[in-house]
Amino acid sequence: MFTLVRLVTFTLVAWPLAVVAADLYAGAPADAAAWLRWLGRAAGLVGFAWFLLAMALSARLPRFDLALGGLLSLWRMHHWLGAFSFVLLLMHPPLLALANVPAGPQAVLATLLPSLDAWTVWSGWAALLFMMLFLAPSFSFFGAPHYQRWKLLHRFSGAVLILALLHALALAGLLKPAAAGWVWGVLAAVTAAAFLWRLLLSRWLSRRQYRISRVNALAPRVVEITLEGPPLEYDPGQFVYFTPLDPSLPVGRGEEHPYSLVSAPHEPDLRIAIKELGDASAALMQVKEGTLATVEGPYGRFVPPQHEGAALWIGGGIGITPFVSVARAFTAQSASVDVHLVYCANDTSRAYYLAELEHIAARQPGFVVHPHYFAEQGALSASFLEGCTADYRQRVCYVCGPSGLLNLAETILTGEGVSRRHIHMEEFNLL
Ligand SMILES: Cc1cc2nc3c(=O)[nH]c(=O)nc-3n(C[C@H](O)[C@H](O)[C@H](O)COP(=O)(O)OP(=O)(O)OC[C@H]3O[C@@H](n4cnc5c(N)ncnc54)[C@H](O)[C@@H]3O)c2cc1C
Repeated sequence: MFTLVRLVTFTLVAWPLAVVAADLYAGAPADAAAWLRWLGRAAGLVGFAWFLLAMALSARLPRFDLALGGLLSLWRMHHWLGAFSFVLLLMHPPLLALANVPAGPQAVLATLLPSLDAWTVWSGWAALLFMMLFLAPSFSFFGAPHYQRWKLLHRFSGAVLILALLHALALAGLLKPAAAGWVWGVLAAVTAAAFLWRLLLSRWLSRRQYRISRVNALAPRVVEITLEGPPLEYDPGQFVYFTPLDPSLPVGRGEEHPYSLVSAPHEPDLRIAIKELGDASAALMQVKEGTLATVEGPYGRFVPPQHEGAALWIGGGIGITPFVSVARAFTAQSASVDVHLVYCANDTSRAYYLAELEHIAARQPGFVVHPHYFAEQGALSASFLEGCTADYRQRVCYVCGPSGLLNLAETILTGEGVSRRHIHMEEFNLL
């Protein structure tokens, strides 16, 4: 199943490239102007096809992401497809205009700014304009974007889709390569299905309702929330989209945010731990027991469910959550593991899961926990890791925490010769 999903996705990415390559193979352009025209069309065809695919990939179908390395990898793919498509679509009009240079300035002007009744061309321009508008924050043109505003602006992608489809399908019949219409038609259908899922069906079929049965303050500005409701099938270390419905919340009510599960799959209730990192998470510090919430997921594939081989886990701050879930899952199994967990906290008061993790380690053969306190010991270092386990360079490494810790851990590990293939990171900050 996973192989099929991967195969279909990569075929869809490669399809527009194959179409333009086949067009070139059928007859190379005769002169520079013909080459520019061909390049302009190819940029339009591939750019729009990848835009459609980037949109389809954002549908967030639970478990579909596993085939592509987890939701975070899928988002990276969405991001890169979107960025490449934007660059190609920006090149599309100037290349077509340049191809008309030999016909004189009037022809160039008519390509870029035709008469007002040429709606097929104007819809293309409008699509490009909307695209610039909604992508500007993604490229941080106006400084670091605010997540909710960024998300709202991304809704303009719907307008881009309709306007670009009008432009593309109206011109597809006139343009070479003839297969362009097929590429766009099929990908537009996939994207429409993805949209239908995200905007309508997922609300009924994928979101489940839970009752917040317990809110446990783990430390100042950190709570663990217990959710009672339908059973959820998940792997330890996965995350869900959590939407609180508590009417007393001043902000963030009805807003979905991703949180790693800290519970283990054998436990009857779901648990998530939340640190105040912005306005919605700050409001959750006061969420009321007995109120409702929805959960969608699970997503992600950070730590593999089977613990074969030697692993080094580095969890910092609230980034300890996926590891807590996997450690809690150890309590329901008898097999030994080979895992060293470095728990990075500012000081003992911020190591809120340490006592429980040490308790699990005392019973679980092969699981060792090493606390590291920034305030006392300074930044994490290669010598600290060496002291934890001398063979850390030979271990598969999993790191989750604030971006500073992710960067530091990557620098230490790669500097010590650990191959990038053996370093897996879970980022909590998506922008
Ligand atoms: C895979 C994953 C697992 C996470 N697990 C945990 C966890 O176990 N515990 C925890 O406390 N935090 C976790 N987070 C982070 C948590 O999602 C953010 O702290 C929360 O969304 C912040 O929302 P806010 O409105 O309070 O802050 P804001 O100021 O609105 O956001 C702060 C940052 O959080 C991220 N963010 C905000 N909203 C969303 C969203 N809807 N979708 C994706 N990213 C968003 C953005 O990068 C943003 O810049 C996780 C994030 C991801 C991506």
